[in-house]
Amino acid sequence: MKDLKELKNEELQTLLKELKQPAFRVKQIRKWMLQGAGSYGEMTNLPQALRDGLASRYSWNVLTVELVQCSASDGTRKYLLGLPDGNKVEAVFMAYDYGNSLCISTQVGCSMGCRFCASTIGGKIRDLSAWEIYYEYMTCMKDAGQPINHIVLMGMGEPFDNYEEVSAFLRLIHDEDGIGLSYRNITLSTCGLVPRIRQFGEEFPQVNLAISLHASTQEEREGLMPVAKAYGLDELMAACREHAEKTGRRVTFEYTLIEGRNDGEENADRLVKLLGGMLCHVNLISLNPVAETGMAGSSRKWAEKFRARLEVQGIPATVRRELGRDIDAACGQLRKKHSSQNIQ
Ligand code: SAH
Repeated sequence: MKDLKELKNEELQTLLKELKQPAFRVKQIRKWMLQGAGSYGEMTNLPQALRDGLASRYSWNVLTVELVQCSASDGTRKYLLGLPDGNKVEAVFMAYDYGNSLCISTQVGCSMGCRFCASTIGGKIRDLSAWEIYYEYMTCMKDAGQPINHIVLMGMGEPFDNYEEVSAFLRLIHDEDGIGLSYRNITLSTCGLVPRIRQFGEEFPQVNLAISLHASTQEEREGLMPVAKAYGLDELMAACREHAEKTGRRVTFEYTLIEGRNDGEENADRLVKLLGGMLCHVNLISLNPVAETGMAGSSRKWAEKFRARLEVQGIPATVRRELGRDIDAACGQLRKKHSSQNIQ
């Protein structure tokens, strides 16, 4: 049975006409969707007969909390969420000084093949729909019992490989009838699908853009991220410069420090050359080791040295606070542990 939320607005209007309902019901139902209703039973302003009529034609799918791992040290809550078809995705709730933030997934698995990432090990299973992404947020917010005022699209999947649904999600979460989250409080992270970076800059200039860079030469990047073969480093950097200039917003570059591979002084110096003069910020993350990859993260001390070398040459950088390391908070690790049927 199809989920009611997946109907287009016109389809919902037609359905309600067929059910001989006044036009304002569409607005009421849409509001229940935006409020993240858990079932038809919650829609108390709809007549029971209508609720029954809808339920006999369309399902009302929600995400289930399969598992929550709470970090004892920093309040991070890592969620394994169940989708109606049995697939599972991850979301991470993080408490920062400036408020609560949620990292959400956009696909089940991922087809980008980054060598260090657990999410991509079994390939992409499927895209998430806009409503499924929306319900990740609603489900975690309700479970955590706290408002969440920042979203990072940095969980499982490549958001620009699911562009239509991700952009529909952004419009939903920004909708004043629901959460009304400011676009400025949202960050989308991509491995670098250049045409989509350009499109996104046009359509969502206020949403923050983060680029998973992880390397300072084409060769180095290709060795870590197959996407670099399709969209080279020069092309990527040109699109990023253009984005920063057009939107007036700084671009964040994520750089995962892998011991002995991309964390040397020469790497830092090349990064400075690559980013010089751009409105940007570098987010250094020590690799969260994934058993299958055989790579290790740089030490905290080393990461600090790398950061200092960037800063002294004029590139603003931070070493990301490591949240929830005690609970496998790196991409895809929790799902991998708990869904052996999907991962060969
Ligand atoms: N596909 C998007 C968003 C998901 S990954 C992207 O590539 O940006 C979110 C971030 O976590 C990316 O920067 C990714 O490169 C990084 N990441 C993946 N696995 C990691 C690991 N084991 N340790 C540290 N960072 C990792």
